[in-house]
Amino acid sequence: MDNMHREGFVSLVGAGPGDPGLITLRAAECLAQADVVVYDRLANPLLLRIAPQAEWLPVGKQPNHHPVPQEEINAILIEQARQGKRVVRLKGGDPFIFGRGGEEALALAQAGIHFEIVPGVTSAIAVPAYAGIPLTHRDVACSTALITGHRAEWIENPEDDWQRCSLGADTLVFLMGVKNLPRIVSQLLEAGRPESTPVALVEQGTTTAQKTITGTLADIVTRAAGIRPPAVIIVGEVVRLREQLGWYDSASHRPLFGLRVLNTKSFPNREAASHPLGMFPMDEFDRQVYTLGGEAVHMPVIQVCPPQDPAPMQAAIQRLVAGSSYDWVVFTSTNAVTAFFDQLGDSGYDARVLRDTRLAAIGSATGQSLQQRSIQADFLPSQSSGAILGEEIPVHTRARVLLPRSEIGLPDLPQALIARGAQVDDVPAYSVRTARPDQVVLEQLLAGDLNVVAFFSPSGIEGLAHMLAAAGYDTPLPEVLAPLNVACIGPSTTKAARAMGLTVEITAQEYTSTGLVQAMVIWRQHS
Ligand code: SAH
Repeated sequence: MDNMHREGFVSLVGAGPGDPGLITLRAAECLAQADVVVYDRLANPLLLRIAPQAEWLPVGKQPNHHPVPQEEINAILIEQARQGKRVVRLKGGDPFIFGRGGEEALALAQAGIHFEIVPGVTSAIAVPAYAGIPLTHRDVACSTALITGHRAEWIENPEDDWQRCSLGADTLVFLMGVKNLPRIVSQLLEAGRPESTPVALVEQGTTTAQKTITGTLADIVTRAAGIRPPAVIIVGEVVRLREQLGWYDSASHRPLFGLRVLNTKSFPNREAASHPLGMFPMDEFDRQVYTLGGEAVHMPVIQVCPPQDPAPMQAAIQRLVAGSSYDWVVFTSTNAVTAFFDQLGDSGYDARVLRDTRLAAIGSATGQSLQQRSIQADFLPSQSSGAILGEEIPVHTRARVLLPRSEIGLPDLPQALIARGAQVDDVPAYSVRTARPDQVVLEQLLAGDLNVVAFFSPSGIEGLAHMLAAAGYDTPLPEVLAPLNVACIGPSTTKAARAMGLTVEITAQEYTSTGLVQAMVIWRQHS
């Protein structure tokens, strides 16, 4: 159906407090179907990736933009809906908690526009939870109140309202209160809350930048002098529980807390392991970083493509089909496994052409990639290195070895095999190209919003340099990466990084994703 003839519809959607994992299933679904997304400040610009098809209209405080007045936002929502669009009005936290969502819904109702409300996880609840502060707790607090700390000029806010708020609930949660903290504290004391009442301020809760300060009504104003909005203020005895319940920002629970890690790796296959919603594609590395408290920002920098000349690979496949032409096939990476089996399949064959050909794989990930195809590697070298495989592989002299690999593979492996007397068929099975740049991620990289960049191959480093150049940035890679810490999967990647002028802080001891995550944990503990 054409847009003009469809009835417009507005979803007032809560985006959650910052951690993209706290967006609801319904919110993600609305975003995925949106024609236009009207948003304020994004807690995490990566949310833009959930709705690449939509037009994104900023109306909130943005750098170099004046905030759009509320009446104008209402008018935009009505106008967009009248054009027959599916409009998502995306709001931080929950739309009805201090988000002016109620006003927007009223405007829509009055204009006769259909709408829905998609509640979100409000910062008022989630931020204390991420700071290890339960808002209610048996025998400590049996009620809680959400209060605005911002006294808009047009609100009559008589003192007895403060009295009622200050004493009306055990736990008080103030939003938008950073600037008025001294006033909030003095009102609470005046209303009769004791000076010893614990208070916490949590800035940028549920994000890698989460920062928490605790104190009491007597000293919180001085202690929290460094806290900037957005922050939630929590007042009440429950704040004491943080000492035992702090988890999100605790180094012992989550050693990578606070780190934003750029993962440059390409996804192993077409149906890349993905987030349950498919919103943010994730691989094993991303998942492990996330579990340990960091945030992985995934932007593949290289893309694996068919070889420029497919003939040698096709000829090798025909030799396999004809039978008994190779004693070994050596796979040097997961890409090689994928490329080999993709081309086998495209030629109308399957793994049975291998018959009793023996298989070797460099690296446990490559071995696993074979296992996913129900094939066990016959040989894995003691270290993930072409030269070591060449030395260790049990080949007899005159053994015929097929080596399907990248067009730009290093010569050390074939040389080592030839030195052992083998006959090597070094066949280009795939080529590597620079992947399409992700503008959101490149901007974060150049703005210094990322802490670590993880490289998984020398071609990944070149890929990132090429990508930056292709996207029009002429700053050299070492300069772009200077504020970050460079992490490499193994010594050959580290060597290539140094050759390109990078300083490498982290090199994995075990040359796998897990090994690199472990190396990051150790580095973090010592830095
Ligand atoms: N509708 C939103 C609140 C909007 S008012 C919600 O439900 O969360 C904006 C205030 O929310 C900020 O001044 C701050 O007090 C709070 N806030 C929003 N996100 C926050 C975050 N990540 N960390 C701390 N406070 C946050």
